[in-house]
Amino acid sequence: MKPSEIIVLGSNGQLGKELVKIYPEARAVDKTELDLTDYKATAAFNWSDTKVIINAAAYTNVDGAESSQGRVDAWKINATAVANLAKIAISHKIILVHISTDYVFDGQNQNHREDEPLSPLSVYGQSKAAGDIAASMASQHYIIRTSWVVGEGKNFVKTIVGLANNGISPTVVTDQIGRPTFTETIVEAIDFLLRENAPFGTYNLSNEGNPVSWADLARKTFELAGFKNTKVLDISTKAYYNERQNVAPRPLNSLLDLSKIESLGYKPMDWELSLNRYLRTEYTS
Ligand code: NDP
Repeated sequence: MKPSEIIVLGSNGQLGKELVKIYPEARAVDKTELDLTDYKATAAFNWSDTKVIINAAAYTNVDGAESSQGRVDAWKINATAVANLAKIAISHKIILVHISTDYVFDGQNQNHREDEPLSPLSVYGQSKAAGDIAASMASQHYIIRTSWVVGEGKNFVKTIVGLANNGISPTVVTDQIGRPTFTETIVEAIDFLLRENAPFGTYNLSNEGNPVSWADLARKTFELAGFKNTKVLDISTKAYYNERQNVAPRPLNSLLDLSKIESLGYKPMDWELSLNRYLRTEYTS
């Protein structure tokens, strides 16, 4: 597989941008070039020189997906469009790399393995779970199941730094536990699986390191970014939901068991090191 034989779908998102950086020769396709919910246009697209589709496109507004329009939009791109890509992958003998989420689980288990039965709580999670099932129909597929993605775009770390810059002490939940995943790590892992011709299937992927709550991730971000006087105010998930409307339910445990990909020889960087690197890259010029 040559990088020029890769197509990156959703090339303008957080992950898409990182993929384009690492695979500059790949064909980068954003929504303006191909709207994946236009199923006719997707089928008619020229896939002939493609060996690998990396699908980084998704509806990712977790709370927005709970609205009546959001529900439709999320299902179109996160589920039906993926079924179409799986069909295309099968008929053109293309490898399909698809990205999944910890939100396909209800978070009752403390450490999610790849073979845990799907149990999504939210509309977003349900639509992504349907997408996983669809992607797994392609005989040559890698489903990368990831959590708390941080890259170039809208994400928790950026939001929290923006609040601190405006002198706001954020209120953050203490009882949702997981690990962030930096887009650099996701791309590294995809590249590893492709280069190693790893067995097809689903792979969990987050950064390594100690499990952390969103509140402690905010604290670590402030510590590393030098916001000495900005406090993080703790709140439980239950109290957070009581105070707000239209918030989608989220799993309390988002921790992904990394032993499958690590047993093949890929060990992701510790999230604290990645966070430090990210803050230095994003906020110093
Ligand atoms: P982003 O929201 O940053 O990017 C998604 C991209 O998909 C956007 O560029 C968007 O384009 C594009 N897109 C949306 N609808 C369509 C469409 N109909 N046709 C073509 N492109 C479309 O997502 P991330 O990079 O953060 O996420 C990458 C993957 O990781 C997704 O599969 C997501 O579900 C998964 N994931 C993300 C997590 C997170 O915390 N963000 C956590 C766990 C998993 P436009 O902006 O123009 O609408």
